[in-house]
Amino acid sequence: MRNEIRQQISMLVKLQDVELKIHRTQLDLSQVEGRTAELDAQLNEFISAVESGKADIQEITKRIRTLESDLQMNQGRIAKSQEKLRSVKTNKEYQSGLKEIDDLGAIGSKIEDEILAGMEQVEAANARVSEHQHRLNTQAGLIRTEKESVLQDAEQARQRLEGLTAEAAALADRISAEALALYRRVKSKKANGVAICSVSASVCLGCHVNIPPQMYNELQRVDRLKNCPNCERIIYWDEEQGRSE
Ligand SMILES: [Zn+2]
Repeated sequence: MRNEIRQQISMLVKLQDVELKIHRTQLDLSQVEGRTAELDAQLNEFISAVESGKADIQEITKRIRTLESDLQMNQGRIAKSQEKLRSVKTNKEYQSGLKEIDDLGAIGSKIEDEILAGMEQVEAANARVSEHQHRLNTQAGLIRTEKESVLQDAEQARQRLEGLTAEAAALADRISAEALALYRRVKSKKANGVAICSVSASVCLGCHVNIPPQMYNELQRVDRLKNCPNCERIIYWDEEQGRSE
């Protein structure tokens, strides 16, 4: 009887150890998706910074071309007005012709200013693009390598999980239905997944509360499974530690 109980306790402790490892591995795996999404987002951000800079340059360049053609048209108008001015008859017509040329000249300078401003914008956008391109060139490889390593770790974790799950099932097979049910019931109430723990120097290592002396004595008999009166965990007397006390 004593040996049998001792064996059940030993199996439960092993099962708990494996199940805690399973839990930690599952947590690791649940973070993989978030981490790879983060890395993808970072890479996409770097790529889109380059692309949006290039799109800016295209747009400004297009605007400059329109302005250049406006300027050409304006120059045509000025030439026409100057031509007309040579054939006017009255002073009034002459004055009005001069004013027209003046106004067209003002429009022309305004267009020229806009073209210059546009060229400055292109220059600034070019500088930004090459900065972003440089960042992309230096970071893309690192990001891809890290993603690969995250995925490799995840694959290893999945394989480990498979092994652990099989190990847990094999251990559960060797534990009596009664003991297993007790373990499962207590475990379902414990956030940290610890349902069985040892008692050292009369203290339950699950909740760090002293257990009554009478119970501590009974515990050393190892004749049946007992629960901590405070935290309900299955408790057992740690013989190794008990002897050295
Ligand atoms: Zn306890």
